[in-house]
Amino acid sequence: MKPSEKQQKLLQDLPGVDRILALAQNLPEYAEIPKTILVGSIRAVIQHLRTAVFTHEAEIPTDLAILSAVKKKVDWEMTPNLKRVVNATGVVVHTNLGRSLLAREALDHVVEIAGAYSNLEFDLAAGKRGSRYSHVEALIREISGAEAAMAVNNNAGAVLLCLDTLAKGKAVIVSRGELVEIGGSFRIPDVMARSGALLKEVGTTNRTHLRDYEKAMGQDTGLLLKVHTSNYSVVGFTAAVPLHDLVKLAGRHCLPVMEDLGSGTFIDFSAYGLIKEPTVQESVAAGADVITFSGDKLLGGPQAGIIVGKKALLDQIKKNPLTRALRIDKLTLAALEATLRLYRDPLKVVEKIPTLRMLVCPLGVIEERAENLIRLLESLGNQRISLMRKKLASKTGGGALPLMELPSICIGLSIQGMSAAVIEKRMRTASTPVIGRIEDDLYLMDARTIQDDELTVIRAAVADLVQAV
Ligand SMILES: *Cc1c(COP(=O)(O)O)cnc(C)c1O
Repeated sequence: MKPSEKQQKLLQDLPGVDRILALAQNLPEYAEIPKTILVGSIRAVIQHLRTAVFTHEAEIPTDLAILSAVKKKVDWEMTPNLKRVVNATGVVVHTNLGRSLLAREALDHVVEIAGAYSNLEFDLAAGKRGSRYSHVEALIREISGAEAAMAVNNNAGAVLLCLDTLAKGKAVIVSRGELVEIGGSFRIPDVMARSGALLKEVGTTNRTHLRDYEKAMGQDTGLLLKVHTSNYSVVGFTAAVPLHDLVKLAGRHCLPVMEDLGSGTFIDFSAYGLIKEPTVQESVAAGADVITFSGDKLLGGPQAGIIVGKKALLDQIKKNPLTRALRIDKLTLAALEATLRLYRDPLKVVEKIPTLRMLVCPLGVIEERAENLIRLLESLGNQRISLMRKKLASKTGGGALPLMELPSICIGLSIQGMSAAVIEKRMRTASTPVIGRIEDDLYLMDARTIQDDELTVIRAAVADLVQAV
């Protein structure tokens, strides 16, 4: 369409890229910005203005206003895509928000190992090639009581690797009540298919008995698999076979038993008044031949998949060529080793590992944090802000302890003339995003998962929000 007379006149006032570039290059704040980014940002801003002329005959702003739009675009371009956010959802192991925060000790070790050469695969005593797995094996054995251990990229990889090694082309017997799907497309039947093992379902959704496994066992059986139903619970008229009974049955037929523990924990949460989650040590003691679990769920470490079990089987698994494709990276290894070392002191570990600290955090501490946040937000002195305290429940998340509701305190934030949906969106798109939730049309921030040093970040986001209108 031909531009109208008014549009043509407006377009004449539109500055060229060169003029804005010359202005920008005189300003110190652009000194460190790569020219391609600066030019690209100016082009984008001018193009945006041109479009606005065509759509609604928008006036051309002053050069100063254009420069300020360019600055915003440049800042956006120069900020990493992967950035920190404040988790105010109350979900402790939040997979979409990165699952676990590393302990200080783990962070320090990552920095040290990442910035220097290391003995990753070098045996310092012997002066020759070593194994990257050696750095954590003894520690995992010590904590879990298992004969052997190794760590790979994640638990999905661990399950795949174990099935591929121990049951390729053979039948794997699993209870129908344990055919789990974890978010992000991890499904036991699909992983099984990929590994080349043949799924043999037994029992029913709610009840599976030892005799169901027994009847299904035959010449072609390679493995009995138990999967921890970590993200759901079958309640009511139910029956599942305890691990040690499965181990006994399998032993009579010289078959191995594998358990996918999912979240995997070394800590007995019932000692802290929380719902009991089966521990790795218990599965080892019950005699499982191979046990797999995640490094970044209840363990509170980096993304990793940990395999523990009988030495003879772990030796086979270590030799599988898939191991190379699933191998753990050195930064992860550094974080994992430092995290595992913290488990040597069972009294201090729940204080030092953020995931554990948040899970066992006393309500009083959460209340105090909520009060601190309320005080900080009140100090903005804005009449349009109103704040509420709500006793609600947080969740463990990460496909762990699905039935557990952790009593917590949420801060309800409402702003005169702004809907909860708008508050939620603005907080989510703040320069340091704050992720909360809406319940009953009220924007909520759960104080359990907010870190103490993030209170001022939230204050800044709310300050921007009330200023924006
Ligand atoms: C979470 C989970 C997995 C996948 O673990 P990742 O570390 O996310 O790969 C597998 N099995 C179960 C039972 C789980 O809960």
